[in-house]
Amino acid sequence: MSAILPTYARYELMFDHGKGSYVFTRDGKRYLDFSGGVAVNSLGHAHPHLVNALKEQADKLWHVSNLYQIEGQERLAHRLTQASFADVVFFGNSGAEAVECAIKMARKYHAASGAPERYRVITFESAFHGRTLATIAAGGQEKHLEGFGPAVEGFDKVAGFDADLVRAAIGPQTAAILIEPVQGEGGVRVLEPTFLKSLRQIADDHGILLILDEVQSGIGRTGYLYAYQNAGFEPDILASAKGLGGGFPIGACLATREAAIGMTAGTHGSTFGGNPLAMAVGNAVLDVVLEDGFLEDVRHKSLILKQKLAALGDEFPEIIEQIRGEGFLIGIKVKLPLGEVIGGIINEGLLAVPAGDNVVRLLPPLTASVQEFDEALQCLHRAMVGLSLKQD
Ligand SMILES: *Cc1c(COP(=O)(O)O)cnc(C)c1O
Repeated sequence: MSAILPTYARYELMFDHGKGSYVFTRDGKRYLDFSGGVAVNSLGHAHPHLVNALKEQADKLWHVSNLYQIEGQERLAHRLTQASFADVVFFGNSGAEAVECAIKMARKYHAASGAPERYRVITFESAFHGRTLATIAAGGQEKHLEGFGPAVEGFDKVAGFDADLVRAAIGPQTAAILIEPVQGEGGVRVLEPTFLKSLRQIADDHGILLILDEVQSGIGRTGYLYAYQNAGFEPDILASAKGLGGGFPIGACLATREAAIGMTAGTHGSTFGGNPLAMAVGNAVLDVVLEDGFLEDVRHKSLILKQKLAALGDEFPEIIEQIRGEGFLIGIKVKLPLGEVIGGIINEGLLAVPAGDNVVRLLPPLTASVQEFDEALQCLHRAMVGLSLKQD
């Protein structure tokens, strides 16, 4: 019996090492990894620039408290603000912590502005924001809340991506709107830029803050550093994590100076957040992702991948209902039981992950090549043939 708390239903697979887009079991079986540690391994496995950054930092300094200045933290925060809407950054260790910081910041903004009664946050159907008590309340999924006592108060879920529904949900206690511009866990749902822009307008009209959860969609995943950058508006606060560490745990809450006015010394903290090891890797990830042409290349390769998947969909209409997504966050909505489809794909040597709405999620490393797409398509094709035979 495993001594691990059984909160995950795990596959019978244990990996020993990885290189680029591939992971290997101890007995040498190779898998093409389009699960990406669920959107974490943004630059694949064992990227030499990341490995060097971590090793170099490991020889110098692992950890000091946030009571002191941390050079890598100053640098990463500066670079994130230069490349985005933000003026300031708080570092944590995970996506949920980044979202928690965002929620606390929005509440504190209104308290510091003389409206402490404004603490409620508008959220959306099929959202995912993490597994802490506040973030499961924000996500609002019954399966995540059940049995954990009263949900943290102050979240109002809107049932639809509709500006009128959002307006109707706003009251005198509303502090902010919280949304993923592309829902990952919820089933790779790409929200319309016009809808997202209307949220910006609604927030401005009501003096409330717009928070984006880009924990999954950020750091190049959609072909832009952050997905909002392709939608023609800017948020007040943004949660980032996953791909930012390329596999090293990091979370970051980005904000405008205005939105962060309440977050003064002593209002928030994290022991490990912004740790020198994490910052070294985060800076190394940005070295690559912000390199000239890198994100254009992701967008270009994404079109190729989507075309190939569309052709697969045409060939197997009885299994594949729709191909959707942006950049390297791609969903294949299927008509068969999701577990069976993903099992079939993994058996053919390709790692993919489930998402809501019966969607197979593909999260290739941003460094994946077109040849690797061809290999992935061959795996998918074999899996589809196998699944079709089983149906007959
Ligand atoms: C994964 C995810 C989170 C939670 O991140 P953790 O690092 O698991 O805490 C929050 N929001 C979104 C959109 C995510 O995809």
